[in-house]
Amino acid sequence: MTHPRQRASDQPDDKVTHEQQATNLTKPGSSDYASAQISENTTPIFGDGLVGINKDGIITFINNTACKLTGWRQNKAENQSFEKIFKLSGDSSESLNLKLIRHIIKSGHLIAPLAQQVIKTRDNKELYIDFSISPLDANTAILMFHQLEKDQLNKNHPLLYQINYDPLTRLSNRETLQKKITQLHQNHKKKKQSFSILLMDLDRFKFINERYGRETGDQLLQLIAQRIQFIIRETDTIGRWAGEEFLCILPDADPDVATIVADRLHHCINEQGFYLNEREIFLTVSIGIASYPVDGITPEKLLSTADATLYHAKHNGRNQVYSSKGLNGNIFSIGTQLENALNNHQLVPVYQPIFDIQSGNQVAEEALARIQDEDSNLIEAGKFIDAAIQLQLIHRIDDQVIRQTISRCCINASANRTNFPHFVNISADFLRRPELIKSIIEFSRNEFANYGLNERKDKPLVIEITEQELLHDVNEVKKLLQPFIEFGCELAIDDFGSGYSSLTYLADLPISYLKFDGALIKRVAYEDRARKIINGIQKLAESLELITIAEHIEDQATLDVLQELGVSWGQGYISARPAR
Ligand code: C2E
Ligand code: MG
Ligand code: MG
Repeated sequence: MTHPRQRASDQPDDKVTHEQQATNLTKPGSSDYASAQISENTTPIFGDGLVGINKDGIITFINNTACKLTGWRQNKAENQSFEKIFKLSGDSSESLNLKLIRHIIKSGHLIAPLAQQVIKTRDNKELYIDFSISPLDANTAILMFHQLEKDQLNKNHPLLYQINYDPLTRLSNRETLQKKITQLHQNHKKKKQSFSILLMDLDRFKFINERYGRETGDQLLQLIAQRIQFIIRETDTIGRWAGEEFLCILPDADPDVATIVADRLHHCINEQGFYLNEREIFLTVSIGIASYPVDGITPEKLLSTADATLYHAKHNGRNQVYSSKGLNGNIFSIGTQLENALNNHQLVPVYQPIFDIQSGNQVAEEALARIQDEDSNLIEAGKFIDAAIQLQLIHRIDDQVIRQTISRCCINASANRTNFPHFVNISADFLRRPELIKSIIEFSRNEFANYGLNERKDKPLVIEITEQELLHDVNEVKKLLQPFIEFGCELAIDDFGSGYSSLTYLADLPISYLKFDGALIKRVAYEDRARKIINGIQKLAESLELITIAEHIEDQATLDVLQELGVSWGQGYISARPAR
């Protein structure tokens, strides 16, 4: 692995590329502009100074920001005594000293961030800093520091810091990252140049918190933040995006370079444990890459691509790097097509009849989303639903399909043609938006009133929730579904048997319909075990007085077995394909 101390070149020269860095990791850089005149800086230098100090008090490495802040050149500062470079102001309350550094190396404990200190720069000007020190290995500690303005010293929460930085990790916070991406986008748009972002999520971090306690979790985040800072270039920005998510901005990096950096970050976290409170903790990270302009031409698109690639990295087993190249089915062209369809009324539902297995009569129907392309061909939901979830467009699909289905219910009911249940599929993303649910219910009320229908009686909307889509906290699901339940909608569990924890949902939610997983139904006539499973679930459903529905019925043999097992309703190509 790349050891953090094998710091990538410290040269501030923008011409040092990531490719050079990637092949040149152990080559120490020499700083030409380390002697920047700190005393003439009226505005603080942003970014963190990073300095490695061994237990003899010798500086083993120093980054460019630290050089700029202290006024020392890198080649002069390295191998020097820490006390020579970090001259203290002479105040008796000083906390940054060798004794403390030795204690940290020995004990393996971090000191809390944001301790403050006045030091003297090379030309004897006072520099106000806040700092943290953490152990790197058995011989070295890392001093990480940040310039404060004079009037910020001794304030518990320096305003500037609070606004721009995450107080725990001392990295840029989400707002700062967002601003930076917008700025970079504006610059690069003019220059037609690439840049990339990496969204990193620590795998199963929840368990670290549960196992070692929150305090250790927080300290670990600080160590990870520092390790990442040693790997990236100083012109790159790393920040805390959310809880255990970091976002790294790589100016000028195209997709290939971004992949090199992402792989390096992946290795640096995965391959070496973190020493904390006399323990070595190992963890892994998933990383999603998005590059401008190929993966998105606006900051919002770029971020949603990074979300999508990260989602893939996580859902394909975690502990890996994903870029848009790795996504199959070209999610981005699907995304564009989907957005056009949503904006131009070309997202339309089709309806598939649901019939009574004993009598063969139609008893209900299910609405399924379709994109209507320029040639009026209908594209099946199966081809775009995953992309819609990843690109966070699924709630808009649900919204449009449900509204059109409600209008169809009203037309059918008022013409006295049909008044049977209309099943609609609903995503977790839609459920998490109470404002959309409220608006759907209002729309529904108005439509029923317009058609002179009895709101209590003619309200045949059934909400299908997919097992995989179900959120993990049953109480939360119940709360989110409540407005629909109060409005009188019934609930169905879709694809039962394909996911997990659905039995709890059956126990805790007012479910009326249970739809068997189609893949299992296809095997029921041909595999004894599949038949036994369906039989078992059927008995369970009967005891709960649920109506069961078998999907994907394609042939007579399957229908016969389902009839024999007593499954209530059916749906599939044997009866009818979904149609408008
Ligand atoms: P689902 O809700 O389980 O819908 C059944 C799927 O099986 C549909 O595919 C339907 O066209 C297909 N199907 C019906 N009969 C047969 C059959 O006999 N054999 C086979 N092999 N397939 C059959 P579709 O329309 O491509 O939808 C796929 C999935 O996408 C749906 O599975 C549902 O989970 C999701 N979906 C569809 N429309 C929406 C929507 O409006 N909102 C949300 N959130 N999800 C939707
Ligand atoms: Mg369904
Ligand atoms: Mg289904």
